[in-house]
Amino acid sequence: MDRPSPIAPPAAIGILGGGQLGRMLALAARAMGYGIWVLDPDPDCPAASVVDRVIVGSYDDVDAALRLADGVAVVTYELEHVAADVVEAVAARRPVRPGHRPLTVTQDRLAERRFVEASGVAVAPWREVRTPGEVLLAAAELDLPLRLKVPIGGYDGRSQLRITSPADLDDAWARLGRPAGAPLLAERELGFEAELSIVVVRGGDGQVVPFPVARNVHDGGILVESMAPAPVASDVAERATAIGARLAEAMDLCGTLTAELFLLEDGSLVVNELAPRVHNSGHWTIEGAATSQFEQHIRAICGLGLGSAGALAPAATVNLLGRGPRREARLLGTGAALADPAVHLHLYGKRDVFERRKMGHLTALGSTVEEALVKARAAVATLGWEEGR
Ligand code: ATP
Ligand code: MG
Repeated sequence: MDRPSPIAPPAAIGILGGGQLGRMLALAARAMGYGIWVLDPDPDCPAASVVDRVIVGSYDDVDAALRLADGVAVVTYELEHVAADVVEAVAARRPVRPGHRPLTVTQDRLAERRFVEASGVAVAPWREVRTPGEVLLAAAELDLPLRLKVPIGGYDGRSQLRITSPADLDDAWARLGRPAGAPLLAERELGFEAELSIVVVRGGDGQVVPFPVARNVHDGGILVESMAPAPVASDVAERATAIGARLAEAMDLCGTLTAELFLLEDGSLVVNELAPRVHNSGHWTIEGAATSQFEQHIRAICGLGLGSAGALAPAATVNLLGRGPRREARLLGTGAALADPAVHLHLYGKRDVFERRKMGHLTALGSTVEEALVKARAAVATLGWEEGR
């Protein structure tokens, strides 16, 4: 495959979505001299303060997306919940990378499961269910506990339920707020040894450059900690990397693909979820890798050669989550958190804080990932949010 002709700075890049991922993509692109436009429903989105222009509009607003397209040379997205017709309309005017197919495959968990299996990669045993009776049948066939997931629109553990006994099934449908007959994904809950993720970037010429595998910890469905390179056997890391590369190729994507994986007790790997974008579990690459995931994504979508993606040092990232009721965000304890020279702070510029909102992250480097994690955790523990006034 020939690499597309390069898009050179000071051309502008358009991003569908101006959250923290859009913000960090914009910062990397800015450093390289690109202009940046974002589409976001919120004029004060996290990316707003670091981009040239915010087009205010929802992710299904075709007119707004076309205004963005007209101002830029290439369009990318920072979230997979962008309406398919928006991407189609934009793609008629400008290249959209990673592309349309990566989006349709990953926005729907059922389509995603089918795609992963068709690519020869394992997922947890699953069924598509449309009635409470079918969930009962799935529970009998797959065993409890089950995870019942809404196929489209979930993130951070929202839109899914854990079913541990048949009694949980009675109101599960109602609790997920789904109309009767709407499809759901029922999937066996796996007792995993560890959660891993692999971030790979595929250039316009088809070259795939993987980052080192990360090991992740979730709490209540939300990512709280990542460390990389993951402390796992080298054959596990190699198999995880091969899965990322194979799926990126099968999707024919140009840009970043993240695969969230479960490492099972027997050493096998199954895919939990795919994201055709930079990922929270790759934030460590800003300080810990030779090229960050954000710079690498920009290089790929602009048709440039990819950077080296090796780890510079063992790294750990801990997310900085909100606490308490919604109020203006004022961070306390920054001085203490950064007293350790190994620690780096990233705040996303969100005006309001609330319970469990992703507000920022801290990354620490160390001589081992365990040491880096201790440092990052200690730094996060010194931070807090001012009470509302
Ligand atoms: P995120 O946006 O954080 O990726 P999400 O809403 O997309 O979350 P999932 O990735 O499906 O949801 O699930 C979130 C977490 O819940 C997983 O990382 C894992 O810890 C747990 N989980 C989900 N499905 C299963 C399963 N089948 N077996 C065991 N644990 C699971
Ligand atoms: Mg997930």
